[in-house]
Amino acid sequence: TDNPILTSSRQPEDADAALRPKTLAEFVGQAAAKDNLRVFIESARSRREAMDHVLFFGPPGLGKTTLAQIVARELGVGFRATSGPVIAKAGDLAALLTNLEHGDVLFIDEIHRLNPVVEEVLYPAMEDRALDLIIGEGPSARSVRIDLPPFTLIGATTRQGLLQTPLRDRFGIPVRLQFYSVDELEKVVTRGAGLLGVGIDKGGATEIARRARGTPRVAGRLMRRVRDFAHVAGSDTITRAIADDSLTRLEVDAIGLDAQDRRYLRMIAEIYKGGPVGVETLAAGLSEPRDTIEEVIEPYLIQLGLVARTARGRCLNDGGWKHLGMVPPASPAP
Ligand code: ADP
Repeated sequence: TDNPILTSSRQPEDADAALRPKTLAEFVGQAAAKDNLRVFIESARSRREAMDHVLFFGPPGLGKTTLAQIVARELGVGFRATSGPVIAKAGDLAALLTNLEHGDVLFIDEIHRLNPVVEEVLYPAMEDRALDLIIGEGPSARSVRIDLPPFTLIGATTRQGLLQTPLRDRFGIPVRLQFYSVDELEKVVTRGAGLLGVGIDKGGATEIARRARGTPRVAGRLMRRVRDFAHVAGSDTITRAIADDSLTRLEVDAIGLDAQDRRYLRMIAEIYKGGPVGVETLAAGLSEPRDTIEEVIEPYLIQLGLVARTARGRCLNDGGWKHLGMVPPASPAP
């Protein structure tokens, strides 16, 4: 389709669509989510009905888009993808919805960024499979209701809490994606290397997996960079030594933090004596959008226990001080 609201390409690193698993069986990890989805897919298929609406939430790069595509493929229905910020007007969404075929999956990435006017159109569409359109203007304006085919909306968002409650409540199947374990990422890396035709040994895969921030997208990106280093070094296999050396050169440390993560930790430690410090203050100091801090940087640092989000702001935990090789300042006398 050449509809500009339907975007098929995403981040440049996703140009490597070859790495996307195509079936639930191929999709590594997220066991609980997969088990549930399998049941809902099977049930919808056997009843020949559209599956209930699904909301995937979790940090970027954990596989929300990939899972949405898999769900459509396993349901045997069409897949349309768009994203919240791209749908500017209610009419854009109406056009998308009226073009769906029976049972199709409509995927809306970054659904928390939908404009409220557009969101209003989505409610009756999700609930009653209907579209309320206003035709004409002024006194002659009238409202018409258009029936839509049964469809499944799959929304993706980095945090469930970013969604308006009425929207959140309309998803029958909310699915939280978790960070991946090292074992799981090792499988992702090994599988990816195989698809790219790159040799990798167990040590190499483990090293990349350990330093991938619990995130398949990061694992894929690191693997491609390490492959380049290996290639230049004249090696056709990624070994632990090559992975370690190249990741260190890329400033990815032993637990997978990159320069941006360390800048964040150091700012709390050095400027704010370990906090608490507000996220807006950190955003200004780091010249990063608040969203990037809250949705990309912090979730993994919190998962590792290096930082805590408190009511008064962000605080560095003992683990955070230790990772920086610093000692917390003595608490001031009360
Ligand atoms: P999100 O939509 O959550 O940002 P994506 O679905 O775009 O994440 O996944 C990012 C990249 O990571 C994709 O290129 C995909 O191939 C890979 N990926 C994600 N989850 C998995 C998985 N479970 N197994 C293998 N590869 C995965």
